[in-house]
Amino acid sequence: MLPSLFLSHGSPMTAITDTPGRRFLTGLAAGLPRPRAILVATAHWAEERPTLSAAPHPDTIHDFGGFPPALYALRYAAPGSPELAARAAALLNAAGLGAALDPERGFDHGTWVPLLLAWPAADIPVVQLASQPWLGPAHQMALGRALRPLAEEGVLVIGSGSFTHNLGRIRRDAIGAPEPPDIVAFADWMHAALTEGRTEDLLAYRRLAPYAAMQHPTDEHLLPLYVALGAAAEGAKAERLHASADYGVLRMDAYAFTKS
Ligand code: ZN
Repeated sequence: MLPSLFLSHGSPMTAITDTPGRRFLTGLAAGLPRPRAILVATAHWAEERPTLSAAPHPDTIHDFGGFPPALYALRYAAPGSPELAARAAALLNAAGLGAALDPERGFDHGTWVPLLLAWPAADIPVVQLASQPWLGPAHQMALGRALRPLAEEGVLVIGSGSFTHNLGRIRRDAIGAPEPPDIVAFADWMHAALTEGRTEDLLAYRRLAPYAAMQHPTDEHLLPLYVALGAAAEGAKAERLHASADYGVLRMDAYAFTKS
């Protein structure tokens, strides 16, 4: 059975800059069974209701400004899957979560940056899920839980966000800057809670984790972690696949939730 994954997509520059996080993403697929399709809960898409991208051939959206032209030339031409979008919507509806379909939506960089690196052939169908970040971690976990059957159907569920995400602290000229202690304290707390399976603590991370609000002034980039956590099989264990920090403050950590 497939695991569910949380990936940090980092800055859009991850697509074209050699960093530890990019090297990890480039090697990610080698350690996984090949999925039939991929569903990505992306930090860069919020809608009133849980919404699935249902275009058969999604465009690549360059949803960022002020980056080098090379980044805007990148495309991720994976097909969509209206069939998977409908299946996921049915699962969400069955859980009372009121899903919708978007027949137009393309891939935002929360989806295409990690997928371009991990599955560059772009030959696996991809569907995106829009979440409702204002409803908090428990809601995202419920979204993931409703999608749990997909793993047994060969669908890899990925939450794509960022383990820490305070863009105001980034100095773009200092990609190799050392990590401040508060970043390490927050990441270590989250890692312990994840690997010890302390779900209730994770749901209350904003109150319990050190410097939580400093790492996530708004937490739409952490919430995809909860979709991955919810999508994991009952009794699944969290395994850290990667840890690093770009600019000292943008943690690129990745986790797999696997039932042994
Ligand atoms: Zn992002």
